[in-house]
Amino acid sequence: MNFQKIALAVALAGISLAARADFPEKAVTLLVPFAAGGPSDKIARDVAEALRKPLGQAVIVENTTGAGGTIGTAKVARAVPDGYTLLVHHIGMATAPSLYKDLSYKVPDDFEFLGLINEAPSTLISKPTLAANSFDELRKWINENNDKVNLANAGVGSASHLCGLMLQSALGANMTTVPYKGTAPAMIDLMGGQVDLMCEQATNAVTQIEGKKVKTFGVTSTERLKLPSMAEVPTLAESGLADFNVTVWHGLYAPRGTPPEVLAKLNAALRSALKNPDLIRRQEALGLTIIDDERLAPSGHKKYVIEEMDRWAKVISASGQQPN
Ligand code: ASP
Repeated sequence: MNFQKIALAVALAGISLAARADFPEKAVTLLVPFAAGGPSDKIARDVAEALRKPLGQAVIVENTTGAGGTIGTAKVARAVPDGYTLLVHHIGMATAPSLYKDLSYKVPDDFEFLGLINEAPSTLISKPTLAANSFDELRKWINENNDKVNLANAGVGSASHLCGLMLQSALGANMTTVPYKGTAPAMIDLMGGQVDLMCEQATNAVTQIEGKKVKTFGVTSTERLKLPSMAEVPTLAESGLADFNVTVWHGLYAPRGTPPEVLAKLNAALRSALKNPDLIRRQEALGLTIIDDERLAPSGHKKYVIEEMDRWAKVISASGQQPN
């Protein structure tokens, strides 16, 4: 390298360091890999709002849907790693590698882990006209109707898909699955009676259960929801499906290669956003828990996702589901 080239490289490095020091200088985009109005989208919009103050910039939510969240996730893996394009994703981050043969990205290698946001319990819900009023009656109805039962989900690898897989293996049933681009559009069809059943996070289910727009047959997580309106709803484990546990977590990710200074600023902003009283109030009103443990640190979150990949790989293989 001659002197001029060295001088140019030094100058460019200086500019990029200055740009990192000033990060963020423009709006930051949070990409959600599911449809607008669903649980992931609602969480991302709450977090976007709470990130505005600590980042001092607008935070925009964009939805890129399809293939159980893998299309949007791939888009972020390929984005310029400058901190301006981030991903809000859920357990699908840990399940897709076991469910897709030709995934165009690698977990954890293609991402920087910013931190875990929340844990969302999930529920088993049905169309309002379904001819069952307890889990035992539902079980009988599923046995009688088997493959005529339409089970909605948000695509292979989504939380609703995973929960549906576990439900079918626990009941020895073989239902017809109906994939949507997110559980927001699936919920519209469930309320309208076009599909029969769905697993859905409390984020989107509680309001519809309270409004009697859907029926509920159980909580899919290990504990009942800590909401007065849901206190009587048992867990599926209490109803006889031993060890049934689908709890959905959400995290924040950046493409691999995002500069460490930018990652540190984003993690600090996330920590501050998760202390925002409005965000906490909105999340708790839906039965969700904001995370404040080692999983909010990039290394702790990465470790947790790797553990979850292992756990789900076993569940998926036990369910007999083959990779797409
Ligand atoms: N709740 C969805 C799922 O089943 C995703 C969404 O629409 O947020 O994974």
